[in-house]
Amino acid sequence: MTSSPLAADLYIAGRWSQPAHPRSFPVSDPATGELVAHVADGDLPDARAAADAAAAALPAWSATPPRTRAEVLRKVHALMIERLEPLARIITLENGKPLTDSRAEVRYAAEFFRWYSEEACRNLGSVSHAPGGGYRILVQHQPIGVVVLVTPWNFPCAMGARKIAPALAAGCTVLVKPASLTPLSMLALADILTEAGVPGGAVNIVPSSRSGPLVDHWLHDPRVRLVSFTGSTEVGRVLLKSAADQVLKTPMELGGNAPFLVLDDADVDAAVEGAMVAKMRNMGEACTAANRFYVGAGIYDAFVRAFVERMRALTIGHGLDEASQVGSLVDAATRDKVDELVRDAVARGACILCGGEKIPGPGYFYPPTVLGEVPVDSRVLREEIFGPVAPIVRVASEDEMVALANGTEYGLAAYLYTRDLAKGLKLAERLEFGMVALNRGLVSDPAAPFGGVKQSGLGREGSREGMQEYMETKYVAVEW
Ligand code: NAP
Repeated sequence: MTSSPLAADLYIAGRWSQPAHPRSFPVSDPATGELVAHVADGDLPDARAAADAAAAALPAWSATPPRTRAEVLRKVHALMIERLEPLARIITLENGKPLTDSRAEVRYAAEFFRWYSEEACRNLGSVSHAPGGGYRILVQHQPIGVVVLVTPWNFPCAMGARKIAPALAAGCTVLVKPASLTPLSMLALADILTEAGVPGGAVNIVPSSRSGPLVDHWLHDPRVRLVSFTGSTEVGRVLLKSAADQVLKTPMELGGNAPFLVLDDADVDAAVEGAMVAKMRNMGEACTAANRFYVGAGIYDAFVRAFVERMRALTIGHGLDEASQVGSLVDAATRDKVDELVRDAVARGACILCGGEKIPGPGYFYPPTVLGEVPVDSRVLREEIFGPVAPIVRVASEDEMVALANGTEYGLAAYLYTRDLAKGLKLAERLEFGMVALNRGLVSDPAAPFGGVKQSGLGREGSREGMQEYMETKYVAVEW
């Protein structure tokens, strides 16, 4: 399936290698249950070897001129676009999402390398007069050092790219632990990195079925200075505690529970279009996925009618089938949790407007589902669904909508539809979320600061801020 059978080994010091303990774990196609690959299972000796390689590569890579680093990153972007099709197929095979989503993911992932190829040369500092006179305050930013990157299965290529590109642009060297359900997409990037000129050891990729001990080993290696994590809030808390031992920097992109607000004056067609993207991109397996819909009483019936029609019309099938718009969810646990949340809402009085029943296997398919008149105490409104289910609540006032939207421990993304831009901007300020999409169904952009407030995370990825995460500020007091 990949261009090279070696792609299922560990990638350490710029070479493919077997783990010290010769073990592997299976990766399967969630749509069929068929085995896709045996992947080398990294363990502590491999973690040590990778950390040695990253530490050895650090002095030369951090001293490489920014322009040279930029050109390497630019080449990675070009190669990813050139190989978009095979990369997209790997994503679909291990994750289950339709090819259209996988292609979009590869483009999005590649764009991080292009954006950070531009940012690599914009590492600006400052010089100022000390207010009391007598000396100058010189501020510069230096690479933080060796960094650990832990990524999830839902965007197996892009979540790695979003971390690797700024880390390399800043001059850091990296240790990557991809999700065990989907390690092949990251491994597929390794050959591209080598070909583009990333030196051996600057990027090391170690899949492992024992993620806890492996990552913990890295977090206690004194050469490591940062752990950047994308995944669940639950695992994020574990890593934050572990990172405290060495006082590591800890950018965290964690779970979400995005509200989708449709005000009475919204353009129904635009709101439905946005809802389709915000809900159905990646079949809802996105931290930014619209998780709960709060719709004004005056527009509720028109919105729900048009939305249900669009959801019903989607084609379900194997992600590799070009006609498929809804692929398999990633595993049985994810599919069963989605169904459990639907059952809970129905038991409390919600009505199923479409979908709502598990599709028999093989594969972990769940149909696009809309739930109407969902009671506000339903689990589906409080927990991350991570599936193609849209629970809708009828809301009487905008103040109530904002209160419901903010009533969560999460604060990643929110969506808001209104024809009144001034009102929309005012409401956006009241929404306690790191990102607000106003009359749009998509927020992600490599040039924009992506991240959450409250228990959705710390720090930002993308934009100039994303590279700053990988740098330390150095102040020099100068007499001249
Ligand atoms: P997860 O279970 O938290 O796993 C994420 C990564 O952490 C995987 O590589 C996993 O490895 C590893 N891991 C698990 N337990 C660990 C431990 N004790 N120590 C160190 N590493 C550990 O999350 P997921 O199920 O893959 O992804 C879904 C979650 O990610 C959702 O909550 C979603 O909202 C969140 N997410 C957030 C963003 C964002 O930008 N905010 C983006 C995408 C996803 P194994 O696979 O080997 O267990």
